[in-house]
Amino acid sequence: MKQDKGLLLVLSGPAGVGKGTVCSTLRESDANITYSVSATTRAPREGEVDGVNYYFKTRQAFEDMIAKGELLEWAQYVNNYYGTPLPYVEKSLESGNDIMLEIEVQGAEKVKERYPDGVFIFLMPPSLEELKNRIVNRGTESMDTIHERMTVAKDELDTMDMYDYVVVNDEVESAVERIRAILTAEHCRKDRL
Ligand code: 5GP
Repeated sequence: MKQDKGLLLVLSGPAGVGKGTVCSTLRESDANITYSVSATTRAPREGEVDGVNYYFKTRQAFEDMIAKGELLEWAQYVNNYYGTPLPYVEKSLESGNDIMLEIEVQGAEKVKERYPDGVFIFLMPPSLEELKNRIVNRGTESMDTIHERMTVAKDELDTMDMYDYVVVNDEVESAVERIRAILTAEHCRKDRL
């Protein structure tokens, strides 16, 4: 039998689809997954804590991380950089823990090049209209940013082919239940034994 390495799990989908809520619900119900904390140049939202929600960086500090090869992947998303620090991901996988990356689709494509055995899950909104309602109701973005995020979301919905699974986030609990079922199935795959 192969040494049991952890699974690299990637959860993508348009901003506003509810990845954060789905991840935190999954987190409360499953102690065996670790979560990657991304670096970003975006300003913290109210209540966000450095090192917990993100590592908040200046553009210069972020570009230094890129230059030093410290990121597994990075992308520019609506005028900001976002990226996944590599050492934590490697350490988790080596120690046999599953690790979840909650990232947008360009980043997911780069992760797939490096970790083709990863499990790629696309979280879908029930409709584009519902997606816009969720971003507007969150109340954290200006109308211009909402418009830009919706434009990106339409492109993101076209990238579904590279994902292994699609989960519609119609209701958080049932989306989480389906993701848990995916993880159980992935752990039972004979090519992973
Ligand atoms: P937000 O500004 O709403 O927190 O995130 C904007 C988008 O960036 C979301 O789709 C989120 O999943 C994505 N994102 C967060 N962290 C990363 C990361 O490390 N890499 C990439 N490529 N995208 C990320």
